[in-house]
Amino acid sequence: MDPEAFRRYGHKAVDWIADYLSNAAQYPVLSQLAPGDIRHVLPAKPPEEPESMQQILADFDKQLMPGITHWNAPGFMAYFSNTGSGPGILGEMLTAALNTNAMLWRTSPAATELEQITLDWLRQLLGLPHPMFGVINDTASTGILYALAAAREAIPKLYIRQKGIGGRSDVPRLRLYCSQEAHSAADKAAIVLGVGQEGLRKIGTDNQFRMDVTELERTIEEDLAAGWLPFAVVATVGTTSTTSIDPVPQIADICERHHLWLHVDAAYGGMAAIAPEMRGIMEGCERADSLIVNPHKWLFTPMDCSVLYTRKPEVMKAAFSLIPEFLRTNESLGDETPNLMDYGNALGRRFRSLKLWMILRYFGHEGLAARIREHCRLAQLLSGWLDASPNFERMTPTQFSLVCLRAHPQGMDDEEQLNALNERLMNRINATGRFLLSHTKLHRRFTIRVAIGNLRTSEKDIRDLWTELQEDLVKEI
Ligand code: PLP
Repeated sequence: MDPEAFRRYGHKAVDWIADYLSNAAQYPVLSQLAPGDIRHVLPAKPPEEPESMQQILADFDKQLMPGITHWNAPGFMAYFSNTGSGPGILGEMLTAALNTNAMLWRTSPAATELEQITLDWLRQLLGLPHPMFGVINDTASTGILYALAAAREAIPKLYIRQKGIGGRSDVPRLRLYCSQEAHSAADKAAIVLGVGQEGLRKIGTDNQFRMDVTELERTIEEDLAAGWLPFAVVATVGTTSTTSIDPVPQIADICERHHLWLHVDAAYGGMAAIAPEMRGIMEGCERADSLIVNPHKWLFTPMDCSVLYTRKPEVMKAAFSLIPEFLRTNESLGDETPNLMDYGNALGRRFRSLKLWMILRYFGHEGLAARIREHCRLAQLLSGWLDASPNFERMTPTQFSLVCLRAHPQGMDDEEQLNALNERLMNRINATGRFLLSHTKLHRRFTIRVAIGNLRTSEKDIRDLWTELQEDLVKEI
């Protein structure tokens, strides 16, 4: 594509993006297509001849847009909602244009050094101690895998990196621990690391879905007595179902007593610590060996951007660094100007810090904190209406910007009936296209999650949702 054509279509694309973002509320949030609809409109064979950019952009609009679920819509309140903010989108565009691969310091010094600086800024914004080494991965699922690989490497004298686990009589069966509310990324990491699902013990929770530390310590002791080798605990600050916060200080004490690696999953909840008055949620996290926060969840950063911090970069490196001759250089000067390929499985690395740097600068500490506070305020507003309603109930404390609720009409107490009713209610609301909600089950109770986290979500949206929930319930009773 020659520069003039690029300029012409580039302007068109930017105009398209600006229109799209300002009209994000006009689309049905959940794509209305059925499975296979997109496949059927697309040609099964690749084009033989070049096609015009005009035609390609027109097909993007006509054929693909109907199959988009709009995470940018103000009514998107499912899972953990996120935002492609302006500075983040511009950062992505520049990243694509530069097309750097920050595997070695020399293959993009700016990308490597900016990643270190930006993550140190973020560390300061979160109130985490110095030093903490940070790297950006695609997702928290990748990050937890890397963190637990480091935890496995930290086990003294087993040399698992060199010798593996299989067929060794000198390696006891490994155990790691998380609560029943931890994200399934922990299970996947256990599977990939050869620890297996049996090697992951799920610890029970209290009535607020926080890990039961007495059960944790008892289980570790039972496992030791039975010949298992405990090596890590995953604590969560802001669990996926309910945003509960595990008691990290007590878990850190247990980890210290038993020499276990402490990984904290703060993928969503950690970002709240940007508001100084919410720093308390991170209590104990300064003692974590590794910790994850996801700017692509609640820091207005387009997918993907997940930050893995560790106090033990040398262990991460021991787990992953492997330098073939063709990648050997003399320039890596230590953890401040590292070769980032040394801290994970991926060799090629996108320049993800650029968008995060732009976001931190564009909003500033004050701006980020104000948005996070506003989301929490909206969650409290909805919580107050729920608490005052005779026909709805709040299922958990509202600590961040997630509200867990269910309809519970007066006089209807059959749990199966309530589950069916709430599922119908959520599906009907999702089908109208104005909102997208998701669900979880708490003590087998179907629970609707309202996850507020998009920059475009306003108080009016929350009021409209509350009206829709109430009006929809009337159809049932
Ligand atoms: N941890 C928590 C607490 C989450 O809520 C999620 C996703 O929602 C993850 C980890 C996984 O995040 P990712 O999609 O970045 O792998």
